[in-house]
Amino acid sequence: MTTPVYQNFINGHFLKNQSGETFAVKNPATDDVIYYVEVADAFIQNAAIQSAKQGFAAWSTMSPIERSRILLKAVALLRERNDLLAKIEVLDTGKPWQEAECVDVQTGADVIEYFAGLAPAQVGQQQMVGEDFYYTRKEPLGICAGIGAWNYPLQIACWKSGPALAAGNAFIFKPSEETPLGAIKLAEIFIEAGVPAGVFNVVQGAAEVGQWLTQSADIEKVSFTGEVGTGKKVVASAAGSLKDVTMELGGKSPLLVFDDADISQAVSAAMLGNFYTQGEICTNCTRIYVHKNVYQQFIDELKTRTEENIIAGDPLDPNVNFGALISKKHQQLVMSYIDKGISEGAALLTGGKTLSPASAPNGYFVAPTVFIDCTDDMTIVKEEIFGPVMSVLTFDDEDDVIHRANDTHLGLAAGVFTKDIKRAHRVIHQLQAGICWINSYGNSPAEMPVGGYKQSGIGRENGIETLDHYTQTKSIYVGMTNIESPF
Ligand code: NAD
Repeated sequence: MTTPVYQNFINGHFLKNQSGETFAVKNPATDDVIYYVEVADAFIQNAAIQSAKQGFAAWSTMSPIERSRILLKAVALLRERNDLLAKIEVLDTGKPWQEAECVDVQTGADVIEYFAGLAPAQVGQQQMVGEDFYYTRKEPLGICAGIGAWNYPLQIACWKSGPALAAGNAFIFKPSEETPLGAIKLAEIFIEAGVPAGVFNVVQGAAEVGQWLTQSADIEKVSFTGEVGTGKKVVASAAGSLKDVTMELGGKSPLLVFDDADISQAVSAAMLGNFYTQGEICTNCTRIYVHKNVYQQFIDELKTRTEENIIAGDPLDPNVNFGALISKKHQQLVMSYIDKGISEGAALLTGGKTLSPASAPNGYFVAPTVFIDCTDDMTIVKEEIFGPVMSVLTFDDEDDVIHRANDTHLGLAAGVFTKDIKRAHRVIHQLQAGICWINSYGNSPAEMPVGGYKQSGIGRENGIETLDHYTQTKSIYVGMTNIESPF
């Protein structure tokens, strides 16, 4: 059987590039090349802009309720094809089917559905100014670009295109070069649902194609998900044409477990926030601060549950709940952090090695790893690892742990476990993070805005306010009286 080659998706169909350049995509659980993708060369880039201009002309003049109706058809198709799309995500990312089947497609569809519902409800304002008055219109920006990370490829494409399209923009999306297929399937679904050709285009490639998107003067906005370092390059490059930016970047988020907390629940949160999607989640609570009084109980239960309940293996096996990391390179990076943790004096409670499960012997697995005896200055406690590596620290004073939790240039997420409701709110209000959970961790419904403080981001995704990030306000002053002029 020949290995498939996917082209860029421009103006409603696949378009062959002129350079002939392609790149290979591997299944992280098997190390096999599963398909090739054509790189978006200059010909494709130019075609994408022309296509998006035409798409914008058609889409932005439709009524919001018409756009909403079409987007809701896309939502229905996403849900109908859940299993097919979830399988694509498993093969591209290495995450367990168990997760993809009930999370990836559904949370993507939820967000498009949410913004489709809001599209017709967006209104301007009007106000009398003496006998004259003004009114405002919420107008789309034009052509917007999205650049995605590899951990939730289809979900990220939905989270970016949902509000953009609902507001009447055209979109050019570049998925991560590690996981390019989900976005193509979304593009096909949009066309099938009735979104005009050119409204949603997919260009493929790595940093160079991303750079082109951030530089193009025809693009009004770029919404980026990825590392802090890449985000800085994107903002710098977007400044050349004064593009609007949304930045969804990395984190090193703290979870504070007080001594009155439900410890089993806190262990569940810590495990979800470090081992779900094999640790490749931006909001993960990779710094767990546990009150000294409950520390032993916490780590005993954490060790038992990590060693007994986590099943690594072929991600397509429905019993497997822990998958392979995205690439060999990333596996090596995660292992280098583990080595640093050991050399800097942290103690391994469990894990700390690569895995080679019988059902997926060539996959890029790293065992769920917990470090104890950690201190705030250790590299593993300071830097985002983006793998299944948890650092546990202790505390005994509320003000001190808040200070330590905030002592970082990142501020994506934070969590608190306590039964004292006053303390829960008092503490969470002082934590410098954009996405916070009390006695919970990780849930991110379409209705809730998400984004980072400090260097973890700019702007928000999801929630009503995101529509404002995809529109611009036009103010129109209406003269009802004669103009008074000194001339
Ligand atoms: P990355 O920064 O390496 O790549 C992200 C995307 O940027 C890819 O599509 C890549 O091709 C592109 N790119 C690379 N260089 C570029 C450049 N100079 N200009 C424009 N585009 C460029 O990130 P990654 O490894 O794919 O993803 C992991 C990171 O993403 C982690 O740091 C994680 O925390 C973060 N993340 C954040 C969120 C969030 O919502 N805050 C969600 C998921 C992932």
